[in-house]
Amino acid sequence: MGRFLIGSTVGGIDAVNQDLKQLKQHLPLLDYLLRSHWTARRVGVQSEFVGLCPLHAETHPSFYVNARKNLFYCHGCGRGGDLIRFIQLSQRLSFRQTVAYLQQQIDPADPPGVLEKTVAFYQLQLHRHPQATRYLQQRGLHDPSLIEELGIGYAPGGNLHRHLAAQGYSFDRLLETGLIDPRGHDAFCRRVIFPCRQHGRIVNLYGRSIGAAFPHRLLPRSKGGLFAWEAVSHFSMIILVEGLFDLAVLWQAGFRNTTCPIGAHLTPAQFDQLSDQPGRSVYVVFDQDENQAGQRASHSLAHRLASAGISAHIVPLPAGHDPNSYFLAGATAADFTHCLRQARPR
Ligand SMILES: [Zn+2]
Repeated sequence: MGRFLIGSTVGGIDAVNQDLKQLKQHLPLLDYLLRSHWTARRVGVQSEFVGLCPLHAETHPSFYVNARKNLFYCHGCGRGGDLIRFIQLSQRLSFRQTVAYLQQQIDPADPPGVLEKTVAFYQLQLHRHPQATRYLQQRGLHDPSLIEELGIGYAPGGNLHRHLAAQGYSFDRLLETGLIDPRGHDAFCRRVIFPCRQHGRIVNLYGRSIGAAFPHRLLPRSKGGLFAWEAVSHFSMIILVEGLFDLAVLWQAGFRNTTCPIGAHLTPAQFDQLSDQPGRSVYVVFDQDENQAGQRASHSLAHRLASAGISAHIVPLPAGHDPNSYFLAGATAADFTHCLRQARPR
């Protein structure tokens, strides 16, 4: 994606308008709101959504978004407009600051490579904290070259801020990346870290707690598609799993055509990636959990993929298993291949 020219004098006002239009196309208002954890329900069959207003306190939803027009309006506080207006209001930024903020969201060039440095630091920490390697082993991950290849590291917590500050990163810059919180504490503490790459660049970090904390965590600026997509996109048969440990044990067992959305629900961008090649077949291996959430998610995904012309299969694992636990329980590559053969097309 090219850089936007806003702020430069090249091309004059028309070019600026063109850039703004492009900016809004690349980040639709609804996507931005959903990413910021706005919850909404669809109104009728139109591309209209309603939810609680993020701009004022209310208990009854009066904030409407028209996804087709890319506009919002709140009947409670009477404010409305486009994405830029929304960010100006919600983050109290000037127009210029908003545009800069948006460019960062869309095209976070990350010039000093702060995420790369963070990952390198966490990789070193992995070897200094036996509890982290022990945790990886407990999850069935023991191949050092695969751990290296996936860039897995460990965040003990409490030392990243100091490390990056010593390399010249400002407090504001680190806060902006989400690596530290407003009190200056490291965002990741006692977590195994997986870097999420897109086009070779790290765009986010996933941290799996090895302690009692909430298990899954991504950096708040959360962006990125399917995990390790570049490595698998050339396969015509793709295995889709929920979690990074599922992916890691499958890669370890030789199933290098495995990718993962980190969760059972695909973003529109992830869905597009998966369905971009006609003739591809996708094998969905989500968790066989008791409350059936995984099964429901696999069925609805398989249905959507089939509608997009992709041959979709749901892979049955023995009851109560996800790919990670299945391999931990002693399954071999041959056992898993057997499950793949049992998969029924949708
Ligand atoms: Zn409002």
